[in-house]
Amino acid sequence: AIEFRDVVKRFGDNVVLDGLSFDVPQGDRVTLIGPSGSGKTTILRLLMTLEEADGGLIHIDGDPYTHEYRGPKRVAIPEKRRRVVRNRVGMVFQQFNLFPNMTVLENIVEAPVHVLRQPKDEAVARAEQLLDQVGLADKRDARCTQLSGGQQQRVAIARALAMDPEILLLDEVTSALDPEIVADVLGVLRDVAASTDITMLLVTHEMQFAREVSNRVLMFDHGRIVEEADPETMFTAPRHERTQEFLRAVL
Ligand code: ATP
Repeated sequence: AIEFRDVVKRFGDNVVLDGLSFDVPQGDRVTLIGPSGSGKTTILRLLMTLEEADGGLIHIDGDPYTHEYRGPKRVAIPEKRRRVVRNRVGMVFQQFNLFPNMTVLENIVEAPVHVLRQPKDEAVARAEQLLDQVGLADKRDARCTQLSGGQQQRVAIARALAMDPEILLLDEVTSALDPEIVADVLGVLRDVAASTDITMLLVTHEMQFAREVSNRVLMFDHGRIVEEADPETMFTAPRHERTQEFLRAVL
């Protein structure tokens, strides 16, 4: 579960999130939509601790993540304690971000072995199972640079899953891919959604993708939630004028 409480994020004078609060219960699949610059990626980056909030609190499964209140005082949580919580959060990026000089298998076992200290043979067995799940068992020993974009993205998904995350963040994971490849990646994610109770938070401009994977959609504008609905309602009968305008432009 993810909880944002009055989260503030600024870049200089640009207030990107101005006291944002929302909840994603365990097992929910939530898509963030909204115009460019509305703060969607910033939310994911805060959850990966790639950015730091200027105010408010983020909780993961009830635990304070980067800051906590001691009395009235908001204090940063030490890196070592943060890392424990961060290890429960997986992320897949638009540009895959695989380790280019490693094989597919090496990419997947890297973090389980070096971060979670899993025994190598256990990590390899799990990686093989995940490669099977994403349809790439035969690419086990290939270099990542030899794979197509869609294949690389499926390796990236397997790599994230190898950490057994409770939360999976997906940032525009299909937007670097050719349209005919998108379906493969979508299929894999639909599979993950159906076979696990991993909490998913995704940012996408592909409304079909949002519709198939998520059970709730949050429409953002200027760092605020302007509308919240199930995908069916959001995409066929949005109530808010700002949402209608946005969807007219992207659908
Ligand atoms: P898009 O759909 O284009 O990816 P978004 O909704 O994900 O947009 P963000 O990437 O979260 O939007 O950006 C929100 C705002 O924060 C933008 O105005 C952006 O310019 C600004 N911003 C994001 N990252 C930084 C940064 N590292 N330094 C300065 N400004 C930033």
